[in-house]
Amino acid sequence: MIAEVIINSSVKTLNKTFDYIIPDRLKIKIGDRVFVPFGSKKTLDEGIVIAIKEKSEYEDLKEINSIQPDSIDSESIELSKWMAKRYFCNIADCLRLMLRPGTTNKNVSNRIKDREINVINLAKSEEEILDDISNLKSEKQIKIMKFVLSNPDKTRQEIAEFTNTSVGIINTLIKNNLLKVDVAKVNRTPLINKDVEPTFDLELNEEQKEAIDSIDIDFGGEFLLYGITGSGKTEIYLQLIRQVLERDKASIVLVPEISLTPQTINRFVARFGAEKIAVLHSKLSNGERYDEWNKIKEGRAKIIIGARSAIFAPAKDLGLVIIDEEHDESYMSEMTPRYDARDVARFICNSRNIPLILGSATPDIKSFYKTEKEEATLLTLSKRANNSNLPQVKIVDLKDELKSGNNKMISLELKNEIAKNIEDKKQTILFLNRRGFSTFLMCKDCGYTLKCNRCDISLTYHKYENRLKCHYCGHEERVPEKCPDCGSDNIRFFGGGTQKLEEEVKTLFPEASTIRMDVDTVSKKNSHEEILDKFRKENIDILIGTQMVVKGHHFPNVTLVGVINADTSLNIGDFRAHERTFQTLTQVAGRAGREKDKGRVIIQTYNPDNYAIEFSKKQDYLSFYNTEVPIRKALKYPPFCDIIVINMSAKEKLELKILAKKLHTYLKDRVVNEKYGLLLYSPVPSPIDKIKDRYRYRMIIKCIYDDKVNNLLSDMLELYNGFNNKTSRVSVEVNPYNML
Ligand code: ADP
Ligand code: ZN
Ligand code: ZN
Repeated sequence: MIAEVIINSSVKTLNKTFDYIIPDRLKIKIGDRVFVPFGSKKTLDEGIVIAIKEKSEYEDLKEINSIQPDSIDSESIELSKWMAKRYFCNIADCLRLMLRPGTTNKNVSNRIKDREINVINLAKSEEEILDDISNLKSEKQIKIMKFVLSNPDKTRQEIAEFTNTSVGIINTLIKNNLLKVDVAKVNRTPLINKDVEPTFDLELNEEQKEAIDSIDIDFGGEFLLYGITGSGKTEIYLQLIRQVLERDKASIVLVPEISLTPQTINRFVARFGAEKIAVLHSKLSNGERYDEWNKIKEGRAKIIIGARSAIFAPAKDLGLVIIDEEHDESYMSEMTPRYDARDVARFICNSRNIPLILGSATPDIKSFYKTEKEEATLLTLSKRANNSNLPQVKIVDLKDELKSGNNKMISLELKNEIAKNIEDKKQTILFLNRRGFSTFLMCKDCGYTLKCNRCDISLTYHKYENRLKCHYCGHEERVPEKCPDCGSDNIRFFGGGTQKLEEEVKTLFPEASTIRMDVDTVSKKNSHEEILDKFRKENIDILIGTQMVVKGHHFPNVTLVGVINADTSLNIGDFRAHERTFQTLTQVAGRAGREKDKGRVIIQTYNPDNYAIEFSKKQDYLSFYNTEVPIRKALKYPPFCDIIVINMSAKEKLELKILAKKLHTYLKDRVVNEKYGLLLYSPVPSPIDKIKDRYRYRMIIKCIYDDKVNNLLSDMLELYNGFNNKTSRVSVEVNPYNML
């Protein structure tokens, strides 16, 4: 028999199957991981069998060398094929996401294994041992034997500690054949908070009932659960999972990486217990990830909570997928394969006929539009479930503030509100969508700004290190004393970041306690959670933070949220600028007054009349949606079409220009000849036209991304491989979240 094998490699030319003879000594099935000889290499390559057939059209085939212990199911193979086609990557790149973690290292001895420890047990049966014990003379030996009798599977150290004896005495008992050494597997688990008070299903309100009744978990379908923050979406997830659990099936719950906090996880642990739950996210140690994955694969975990890549968890008998905060950008992968977890979930749920629940207070325009086209069912929760009120939002015009002579980051109105909160011992969150001390350094005489010479974007000043940093490539340099261009020493900082804001707050409120959360303070493991914990537990007056403070957190004592500058996200040069601004502002506002006390929100902006800001004031998603959609339609943006970005980069500018022209000509000819209904733009330098010493160009296509377009682009990429370029790169992204 012949096996079709995919070589585990990202090399583009290896994105096809290779035929191998299955030797009689091996029993091979589809999905087996195998070692095969490849090319003229001495070492073996890893591969995955994706099909088995009688004959091959090729001659001189090599044999499969050996099987590895792991295999992958045929559903994962189908998913990988679909992803590879849709996201223009190798099937192996996709399969790798679904393999047992820590087992892709070519060197088998470097792979992650079960953690095993030596434990001590009785060497004989209980009856036999009683006689032996009665013959013992030493008090300490008797004490150890009694302990082991009622405490199996303990380590030598544990026994010695509990019985106040020594490891030496235990070893003597082993030598005398009273005790023996067993090998036990330990689970490395991230679920450390075991003592969580159990909770029970709440009595649902009318809206919740209606929503949950619309979902038939035995039937499937896609549902958009649109509910304002605190409207009880999570309670619905919990009760749906209960229904799935009763059928002994598994559920996957995706949450944005940043809100994957112990707080979130504990809500599930409190309802279902830690044994049934597995958690997957990027901060797990390799050992933890390996053990959690096994817990899922073996069917011990029925509820999988995780970030984006948890959609690939090997859930046994999957019955439900939930994606919370479905509008969140973290569901889009920015690495190969550049997949959208929502699309992958849709594929999985469709092929298994199970329900997909997308939940959000500010759904992606595209997701909401699907409900209008009846491709998904809309379920609405319009009220807060615990009767807390929505916060009262006020907008401060920064233009007026400047006119009245205040050029500080904090307006007079916000200052007064903060003062009031400090006095009332309530907490405040100040949100600024920007990090660093100041955004950039500019010469007041000639207007020269310091940019990264590799990436062509402004360098950011970091005060505590007194360095300028590039946020794209990490380049650092010292702060010049004079303008590098005209030599003037009138060189100044412009804009303001979280550090500058923190200083201003400290000057205005010297008696207040503050804590700052941004990429610079959050770096080591767990420190994000530590900052939030400290803020909550120590009742710190003011939390100053970037985007990270926006998502999903629940702080009962926060009654004031200040948005320092709502305009930053309006100027990002992306068709989603308004959508993101609306989402961010609504989410930030949702942090205020989540319990009994009424929340206040102050939004500072230079554009108070902008509709994204205006509608976020009333947290009015539907009005925002109804304003945004006609604009998208008129300008041909999603959801009315897809945006495909063809990225090209090269070390030499000339090489890049030639490549861009070739690809453009190829596409143009075919689009014209074969009458595609699409818009093909000419190649232009990318918004950031140089990163890490590589020049960048891009070409945009607006179209409905269907099979025909997919084939066109696949052909183009194949042709590009035919050019045999050594230093250039081409990649295709579909509806990328980041247009830079
Ligand atoms: P969301 O996920 O939409 O933000 P949650 O499910 O977290 O909302 O609910 C917000 C608060 O309301 C929580 O404290 C939750 O326990 C409570 N809650 C949810 N549903 C009910 C209900 N039916 N009855 C009483 N309280 C509820
Ligand atoms: Zn100058
Ligand atoms: Zn740079």
